[in-house]
Amino acid sequence: LQRAGEKLITTHCSYCGMQCGMHIRVSEKTGKIKGVEPRYDWPVTLGKLCPKGVTAYQQIDHPDRIKRPLIKKNGAFVESSWEEALHVIKDNVTRLQQESGPDAMSVFGGVSMTNEKCYLVGKYARAVLGTRFIDYNGRFCMSSAAGGFLKTFGMDRGSTLPWTELEHSDCFLMAGSNTAECHPTSIQMFWKARDRGASMIVIDPRETPTARIADVHLDLLPGTDSALANGLLHLIIKEGYVDEAYVEERCANFEELKAQTALFTPAYTSKITGVSEEKIIRAAHLYGRAQKSVVMFARGAEQQSKGVDNVTLYSALALLRGQIGKFASGVATFTGQGNGQGGREHGQKSDLLPGYRKITDPEAVKHISGVWGIEPEAMPKPGVSAFEMFDEIQNGAIRGMHVICSNPAVSAPNVEYVWDSLKKLDFLVVNDFFLSETAEFADVVLPAVSWAEDEGTTTNLEGRVIRIRKAVEPLHESKPDWQILKEIAQVLGKGYLFPYEKAEDIFNEFRLATKGGKADYYGITYERIDRENGVFWPCPSLDHPGTPTVFKGRFETPDGKAVLPSVPWQEPGEVPSEEFPLRLTTGRVVYHYLSGNQTRRIDFLRDQCPYPYVEMHPALASRYGIQDKEMAEITTPRSSMTVEVKLTKATREDILFIPYHWGKELSVNKLTNACLDPTSRMPEFKVCAAKIRRI
Ligand code: SF4
Repeated sequence: LQRAGEKLITTHCSYCGMQCGMHIRVSEKTGKIKGVEPRYDWPVTLGKLCPKGVTAYQQIDHPDRIKRPLIKKNGAFVESSWEEALHVIKDNVTRLQQESGPDAMSVFGGVSMTNEKCYLVGKYARAVLGTRFIDYNGRFCMSSAAGGFLKTFGMDRGSTLPWTELEHSDCFLMAGSNTAECHPTSIQMFWKARDRGASMIVIDPRETPTARIADVHLDLLPGTDSALANGLLHLIIKEGYVDEAYVEERCANFEELKAQTALFTPAYTSKITGVSEEKIIRAAHLYGRAQKSVVMFARGAEQQSKGVDNVTLYSALALLRGQIGKFASGVATFTGQGNGQGGREHGQKSDLLPGYRKITDPEAVKHISGVWGIEPEAMPKPGVSAFEMFDEIQNGAIRGMHVICSNPAVSAPNVEYVWDSLKKLDFLVVNDFFLSETAEFADVVLPAVSWAEDEGTTTNLEGRVIRIRKAVEPLHESKPDWQILKEIAQVLGKGYLFPYEKAEDIFNEFRLATKGGKADYYGITYERIDRENGVFWPCPSLDHPGTPTVFKGRFETPDGKAVLPSVPWQEPGEVPSEEFPLRLTTGRVVYHYLSGNQTRRIDFLRDQCPYPYVEMHPALASRYGIQDKEMAEITTPRSSMTVEVKLTKATREDILFIPYHWGKELSVNKLTNACLDPTSRMPEFKVCAAKIRRI
């Protein structure tokens, strides 16, 4: 593939958790990026990139890149020097913390960053700013999967198996994942398995491109996953599909689960979920008969106020069939962001320190403060979850915020409340490489680099730690986030805590921080990642091979057994009423990534899908006298928005669907509900009550 006058930089795509292998083509003469090529030697994605990956390089010297630090003066941004920006930050952070204590500052992190940066954001918040208020956008992404895995298995790794084994599986049960659009390059693995006769069951309110290739599509009412999962569990038990020896040896709570699911006959399950009895029965038999099966889920099942329950129940299907810890079998979640694991084992979550250590555990605090070089007493207490940080702004506890690689002004639920909160801040700093909707609220914007301008590692959706390599020098005066945080630490008099010269120095400290924790990266080095084409965590020593398949022997619970759930069916946080008779759900399209801050600027991607729309069934539209391509107003108890109508029979007749990649008046998150899961604190993006009218 290498052409004359070019060098190929071996790396991975910047976007979703697939982290597809790619080469970046760089001109030897100009040092500019000319394009990308898929990596045929990368075992997970084997020469495939989706439209986002193919065009990702166009971000790098995009004219919208922030060139220099920006300081807001008289309501408008003006370019400044780094020196001036750092001093504005120092003055404001010092003033707020002197007036209101260290917790007056907060940090809102992100997961579309390298492991090194994810780790450093947590250390920056707790050791440099000394605040307990740190959380991150993974709370809106992976937190329910994490909560479910922890409850069930005692450890949270996004996938219990390496994805190179998927092609050998016999059955896939996918809940709330539009894989074909959200993780498109994974589809080839499913096709390979399908060619061998594997079956596929898709659980989704819409007949997505993924559901179209399924053997059974369980088109459930949004918010009824726990009823459907209970119904499938009921049939797995009733039809004799339980691997009794495995459950006896490796699982706890089976009798409670059996009692709980007894009620969920196909008729009862069908009544709640709206899925026909025939489809439920067919799905249970397909899944129950498979020798090697994988249960997979994503935000459709997780972004609910019962998201953790949903994850535990779907995971229980795999446990009853004895599928965890075996070849080509298991449970996996599709991580949305590039470093989907990032934040949890790295210490950006309000209650976790690196290595998946609890901040409430004195031994954990002792270990991490030792690695960081601070006194254990200086470690802040647990904070609050991402959305709850906006409540803390409203009640005056948080007065300043540093947003790093995140765009909550688009991605948070009930987003008008978030806008109001951001306006109330005394001081807001944002690191980004494009002026995001969140950055527009800022007092200071610091130009960060794109993924191709820095070194580091990420952990893909399998749990495999991989290398991200620098292809070009940082554009204009932009800097890597780790360097920005180091310079802020220096002006705040804490530079001694950030003695790094390069990303690898941070990774080596991160290894020490995770040593002995549940998410142990100690045995993983840059040299090993390069040599072995990635290493799976946990990997506790340099001679440990890494762990592609987890839970082969025991689970990470105190007694080594997986905990089967006994979870009743409960309605979502908001149900239809006379005034709001429909259910609204949200999701992604193949051409855009998360808040769209990057992909909305790429001409090809924007042209394919320039605006949000509301998808609805023609039968529902006719009840409201609405035609295809007309404009309609959708209202929920929080707000309204106006979008074009797209009629399709590929959706239930009682729901509305709007994709979420746009900001301001085009943000569907003006409408979504911030009702939180009690364990994961995940907001209920995926279901709220709504009404529609033609305008
Ligand atoms: Fe691969 Fe995801 Fe990038 Fe598409 S967006 S190329 S699926 S990593």
